[in-house]
Order: sequence, then structure tokens, then C-alpha cells
Amino acid sequence: MPRSVDVLVVGGGPGGSVAARRCAEAGLQVLMIEKRQEIGAPVRCGEAIGAEATRAFIDLDPKWIDARITRFALCNGAGSRAVLPSELTLVINRKLFDLELARLAARAGAEVRARTQAEGLLTDGQGNVSGARIKSVGQPEDVQARIVIAADGAESQVARWAGVRTVPALADLYVGLQYLVCAPPGVWMPDVAEYHFGPSIAPGGYGWVFPKGDDTANVGLVLAGDRATDGEARACLDRFVARRIPDASILSVVAGGIPVSGGLKQISTGGLLVVGDAAHQAEPMTGGGINLAMMAAELAAQTAIQAIRRDDTSAKALKAYADAWHSRYGRQRAGLLSLRRLLAGMSEGEYVDIIATLARQPADNMNHGQLMLAAFLRHPRLLLEARALVDIGMHLK
Ligand SMILES: Cc1cc2nc3c(=O)[nH]c(=O)nc-3n(C[C@H](O)[C@H](O)[C@H](O)COP(=O)(O)OP(=O)(O)OC[C@H]3O[C@@H](n4cnc5c(N)ncnc54)[C@H](O)[C@@H]3O)c2cc1C
Repeated sequence: MPRSVDVLVVGGGPGGSVAARRCAEAGLQVLMIEKRQEIGAPVRCGEAIGAEATRAFIDLDPKWIDARITRFALCNGAGSRAVLPSELTLVINRKLFDLELARLAARAGAEVRARTQAEGLLTDGQGNVSGARIKSVGQPEDVQARIVIAADGAESQVARWAGVRTVPALADLYVGLQYLVCAPPGVWMPDVAEYHFGPSIAPGGYGWVFPKGDDTANVGLVLAGDRATDGEARACLDRFVARRIPDASILSVVAGGIPVSGGLKQISTGGLLVVGDAAHQAEPMTGGGINLAMMAAELAAQTAIQAIRRDDTSAKALKAYADAWHSRYGRQRAGLLSLRRLLAGMSEGEYVDIIATLARQPADNMNHGQLMLAAFLRHPRLLLEARALVDIGMHLK
């Protein structure tokens, strides 16, 4: 007899762990599987998250917080920087953070199994997903589940197996590369996250310096997939590091893709819910997806709990998750997507001018929206297109 659970969660990242925890807290029998031999490793992330949103899922704990960021700097290729206050942002140790989230899931009653991967889906007579074929430390096994939650990240296969179209257009895929660097103290400010813009730095994307302490930082960039020719990300990052942190030693290298399409339209079907990067739910402008994966997991778990209680896991019942996600975040996503496309089309000269203008503004007396307006006013073409700023809540008071 195949093993049977209420919920099978595929993927032990932030989305998977929060979904598993919430379902287990509601008394459901949950199995969460993670194909890698160690949850959280290897890290493929810039490790920056907004503290406020994170707090809803985990108590802030110094053991996985490397730095606290209170300002951000917008920088251009000509050396100008506008330093603005920001909400508290954390640069985390992602390995310890993911491990802690998985531990919380296990403590809530979910069974967590590393080095166990889904290899295919099981379906019932009506074509609904009813479990998965898994391989655990080399041993194949069928697991029946009333609901499968696909939290299997950017390279997701689970949703594809169920017939969901998941491959993003190249322009909607960020290609990311990052070095963990060590440099003498003083090269960056430990409480300032730097964002670097312009086609000379990262065509169609942006570069970053996220301090992890006085002498270590994550330095990386993302390029738009349609502009990332072979070796381009490496060449851009090496140029960026040589210019910004000439004395850097490289302690580790991280590479990965982030789907930034603004979200798949279809994120559920009979017996299946798709969350996090697997559903393209990362923020479409920055590519930040940790908090959003957890927020989506929360909504997916609520739907799963209701559906199982009502004994209805049909496509129609599970659409409640998609409806909740789209009504809560859909409009904001669309605004950020427009903004990313606007930024991706800006010339080096426009970036140089806009950031230089921002750098001259009296930042203390203006909110972010007013600052943007002041900078964009010099470029009426951009100002017209930048109506997306209003959509995403940067109200120009
Ligand atoms: C270079 C780079 C920098 C980034 N920087 C940031 C940042 O600074 N801040 C931020 O918020 N986000 C950042 N992101 C994005 C962030 O990492 C993701 O949005 C986030 O991890 C999404 O969480 P998730 O749970 O959906 O997926 P993941 O964290 O990717 O977890 C998915 C898990 O599923 C497992 N899995 C896959 N297939 C299977 C299978 N068949 N069976 C079992 N397990 C499987 C994987 O091994 C993985 O552990 C960055 C991404 C990259 C690539």
C-alpha cells in the first residue's frame, strides 16, 4: 500500500516550510520533501529581506541575522549616489534561516525529509493530482496526498508535470550572479544597501552590495535573460567588483535564475497548489522572493486546510488560493512589472541624470514618491510611463 498523507509539500525552501508548518498547525498530516541533502544549502540568494514582512513568519533572531540595513543608496555608473532612509531590512544567513523555518515546520508536526525528491505526479481517475512518486535516499516510493503543494523553486517541474505552463519569457527571467566578498573595513557602510543601475553595470537589471558585516558583503547583479549572452553576467560582475571594490577577495560564488514575470496566471489545479518561485511570485522589479514565497504559502495553506476539511480538493475549490493571491497582490505586481520594463529600457544617460538629480535632493524633507517625481520631471517620456509608481503605492503627495 502506498503511503498516504493529507498534504505533500515538494521543496524545503521558505515557501515549502511555511506551507508545511501552517498545514501541520491545523492538524493535517504533512510530509515535506527536499531534494538537496541539506536544507538551506547551497545558498543561492542575495539574502536581503524586509524585516516587517518576515516577522509574520518567524521571530527575528540574531543567530541568522548578519546585518541590519536602515538606508539604501541608488548609484549610477558615473559615481553619483543618492542615499535614502529605508524600512528595516535584514541581510540574513540564508542557510540558517531556511533551516530554522524547516525546524519550525517539524516542530509543528510536519515530517521533513531531506535528500528526497519528487520524480513525477500521481493522478486520480479524473485527472486531479493525488500524490507523487518520490525517491528518498535512492529508494523509490509512491506517496498518496489529498493535496500536493509545489514549492520547488525557480526550476520547478512539479507544476509542469500537471500541465501548468511555467517557462517564463527570456525578458522575464533574471539571470543572477553573486560573490560573497571580503574587503578591508570602510569600503561600504555596514547599514547601507547599495543598488547600482545602468546598462554599463547590469543590462536590463541592477547590481547590489549587501553588507553582511564590516568586511564581508554579498556583491551581485541580475541581468534580463534576453540580454544575458554567454558569459555576460560574469563579465559584468567582474567589471562591477573591480570598479566598486578593487581589493575584494571572493569567498564564494552564487548563480541562479529568478522568474520575474509578475506571477503565473494558473497557480492551482485539482489537487495541486503552486507557491513561491515555482509560481513566479518573486517581486518583479527586484527579484526578491523570500517573503513573497512565505506569504503565498500562507494563502495556499489556508486553502488546503479548508479544502481538506470540506473534502473537496477539486480545481474549482483550490482556485480560492489563486483568487486570494491575485486580489491581494495582483495590481501591485502589475505596477512593479511595468516599472521594471520601464527601467530596463532606460539609457545610461537617463540613469546617470536621474540618480544625479536624486542625489541633489534634500532627502530628509521628501518621501520616496516626491523624490522620484523630482528626478523623473526632467524626463517627460519616463514620467508618463512611470505612472506605475502611483500604482505601487508611492503616492506623489
Ligand atoms: C542570485 C539570487 C539572488 C537573490 N537574492 C534575493 C534576495 O536578496 N532577497 C530575496 O528575498 N530573494 C532573493 N532571491 C530570490 C529567492 O532566493 C527566492 O525567491 C526564494 O528562495 C523563493 O523561495 P521558494 O521557497 O519559492 O523556493 P526555493 O527557496 O528555491 O526552494 C525550493 C526548494 O525546492 C527544492 N526542490 C526542487 N525540486 C524538487 C523536487 N523535485 N523534489 C524535492 N525538492 C525539490 C529545491 O532544492 C529548493 O530547496 C535571489 C535569487 C537569486 C538566484
